[in-house]
Amino acid sequence: SDSRSSNFGAGPSALPEPVLQEAVRGLLNFNGTGMGIAEISHRSKEFTAFLAEVERQIRTQLDVPPTHSILFTQGGGSAQFSAVVLNLLARHRLLHPDLTDDERAMDYVITGSWSKKAAEEARRLGGGKVNVAVDARPHSKDGRSFDNIPAHDAYTFSPDPALIYYCENETVDGVEFSNDEASPASFPFHLLPKDTLLPLVGDHSSSFMSRPIPHLADHAVIYAGAQKNIGPAGLTILIVRKDCIVDVDAATKLGAVPVPLTMAYKTLADSSSVYNTPPVLSIYISGLVLLRSQELGGVKYYEELNKRKADKLYSVIKAGEEKGLLRAKVKEGSRSLMNVVFDVLGEGAEARFLSGAEALGIKGIKGHRSVGGIRVSLYNAVTDEQTDGLVAYMNTFLAQ
Ligand code: PMP
Repeated sequence: SDSRSSNFGAGPSALPEPVLQEAVRGLLNFNGTGMGIAEISHRSKEFTAFLAEVERQIRTQLDVPPTHSILFTQGGGSAQFSAVVLNLLARHRLLHPDLTDDERAMDYVITGSWSKKAAEEARRLGGGKVNVAVDARPHSKDGRSFDNIPAHDAYTFSPDPALIYYCENETVDGVEFSNDEASPASFPFHLLPKDTLLPLVGDHSSSFMSRPIPHLADHAVIYAGAQKNIGPAGLTILIVRKDCIVDVDAATKLGAVPVPLTMAYKTLADSSSVYNTPPVLSIYISGLVLLRSQELGGVKYYEELNKRKADKLYSVIKAGEEKGLLRAKVKEGSRSLMNVVFDVLGEGAEARFLSGAEALGIKGIKGHRSVGGIRVSLYNAVTDEQTDGLVAYMNTFLAQ
């Protein structure tokens, strides 16, 4: 069919229709060059100017201070699981050349499948010792699920770690830190070692640009794959504090493992993110999305919209719980605004729920294969109207 569905997919995910229409024009003729965006050199003056504008949009909309560089790369969030470890261990080695690997702590806050995976990669790479600052599973309802952000007294941080890692929004499990500091589900910034150059790393893949980032300036690295709120897959956006852009080869001379050039933040920074061919098309569409976001009012606008959409969905889930037909998976207070996860209870009920949705053009709501159930992703491009359509369908389903 020619008509577009309501796409609640977790990523790649919905993009704003006006952006896609404009991108079609850019694919044929980018900024009057007579060449399409996928055909033009990444070193052309037109693309160079566009890339600088994308950076400017991120800087102004998120209020990124001059202490931090904005870098563009590829490899997704998964490549950053490795890159943050390699770059920040190199930095730690330069600061403290005499420590043994066991004395280089890497603190991981594990609140879901993605932070767990990131910690596993750190363990695999070695060069430091993974300290689990907290694991949310023992704090869950059944003692083994990722369904909560633990209370602040559950965390233990190392005194001078090479990095402190967290995932802001756990896309699979639907658990997100609150950005309200008064909430028990906020990130415990006040418990971190008192250091103006804190090696704090945030995986913001599935919440980037959905709302302002608390304590952005205190971060060493924030990263996000584009394919949720911003654009097509292929682009990874990094915000890196300048003291973390280190000479990795100097660290290697002191015994650190060599860092692949394409993963070293210094390579990206020194080349203005065009050391090699960047994902030109993904950058282009992401840039169009960011320009549109600016026109609408930026992260403040999206925070309001996203809260409104999530409220509507969590209310109908609550109504379903009261009828014994649905079950929210995540504890109240720790629930994600971006990925809403729940179970449909009863024999064959989930399959009926999914096929009824499919018939109405409601797509992408099957939960991640590792956890099952339903997952509705409400990224920036998902509209109020589409959310209302889903809620109306759910109300009908509950009334049957
Ligand atoms: N972190 C988070 C929070 C994610 O949601 C994802 C992807 N869904 C990743 C990391 C991995 O990203 P990628 O597939 O781009 O490597």
